[in-house]
Amino acid sequence: MPDFSIGVDLGGTNLRISAISTDGQLLEKITLGVKVALGRDHVIGEMCDAIHRLTAQYKDSGRFIGAGIGVPGIIDMESGMMRKSANLPGWEEYPVRDEIERRLGARVFLENDANAAALGEAWLGAGRDADNMVMLTLGTGIGGAIILNKKIFYGMNGMAGEFGHVTVEPDGVPCGCGNHGCAERYASATAVVRMAREAIESGKAPALARAATPDAEFSAKSIYNLAIQGNTDAQGIFIRFGRALGMLLADLVNVLNLDMFVIGGGVVSAWDAFAPTMFRELRERSLVYAATAPDSPAQKEGASAAIKPYTRKKTIITQALLGSDAGLYGAARLPAL
Ligand SMILES: [Zn+2]
Repeated sequence: MPDFSIGVDLGGTNLRISAISTDGQLLEKITLGVKVALGRDHVIGEMCDAIHRLTAQYKDSGRFIGAGIGVPGIIDMESGMMRKSANLPGWEEYPVRDEIERRLGARVFLENDANAAALGEAWLGAGRDADNMVMLTLGTGIGGAIILNKKIFYGMNGMAGEFGHVTVEPDGVPCGCGNHGCAERYASATAVVRMAREAIESGKAPALARAATPDAEFSAKSIYNLAIQGNTDAQGIFIRFGRALGMLLADLVNVLNLDMFVIGGGVVSAWDAFAPTMFRELRERSLVYAATAPDSPAQKEGASAAIKPYTRKKTIITQALLGSDAGLYGAARLPAL
C-alpha cells in the first residue's frame, strides 16, 4: 500500500482536512465548519483532533509521512510562523508549525494557500504534464504562484508571485497594498461586484441597474448570469475583467516564457464571458504569446517572425482542473517533496 499524508486547507470560513495517498488518491475528506473567529487555539485544536482521527483510521493502509497546511497569508518558511494574514487575526508571531508538529508528533509543512493550490494543479491537475507553470487564483483578490521544475519559486523572502498587485491601470483605483490600478482591482470576484456597483451609481448602466434591484446579493455569479443572458452592461464588466487579466498575462508570458499558465478560483467559471477579451489582449500585447500561441493566427504577424525558430513549443493558458480541492492536494504533497 502507498504511504499517505494529510492535506489541510485553512480558509476564512471552512477548515478542510484530507488524507491523500502519495500516488494521489483521495482517501477521505473532512469539512469542519470551524469558526476562525473562535481563535487560533480553538482552530488548531479542532484541526489536530481531525488529523489524529484520520491517521488512526488509515494507519494500517500505509505509512503516515506528515501533514501540509495551506494558510491564507505570508509565511516565514524558516521559523514556520505567519508573518502576515488579513484573514487570521492573532496568528502572527506564533509558532504555528512547531506547535502542530508537537501535537501530532509528525512533520508539518506550512504553505501559502495560493502556492498550495498551484502545487496541487502541478501534481494532479492542469499542470500535471508541465514542468514549469504559473497559477493565478481569482477570488477576493488574485493569488499567484510560480512553479519551476515542479517546485515553488519563493524569491528571497517567500514573497514571489504577488501578481495581483501588478499595475494594469497607471491611474486606476487605489488598492489596499498602497498602489493604484492593481490587477486584482479589475480581475477578481470582488472587482466584478465593485465595477458593477460603480457602473450603476454612475448612471451609465441602466440595464444593470434594472436587473440588480431585485437581487439582494448581487454577487460576481449573478453579474455573470446577467452577462450570459445578454445584459450588455454586465458583459462590459467582464470585458474590462478580461482586459486586465490579459494585460497581466501578457507581462507574465513576456517575462517568464513558461509552458503553462493556469487560471483557477471561483470566478474562473465565468471563463466564456472574459476569456475572448483576455486572449485578444494577450495576443496584442505579448510578442512571446503571439509567437507561441497554440495554432496561432498571430503567426502571420511580424512580431512572431523574429522569435519563431526558437519556439517550437506552445504557451498553454488554461483553466484549473481541481477546483477548490487543488489546495488540499497541494498541501498533502508538501511532506513528499
Ligand atoms: Zn495592490
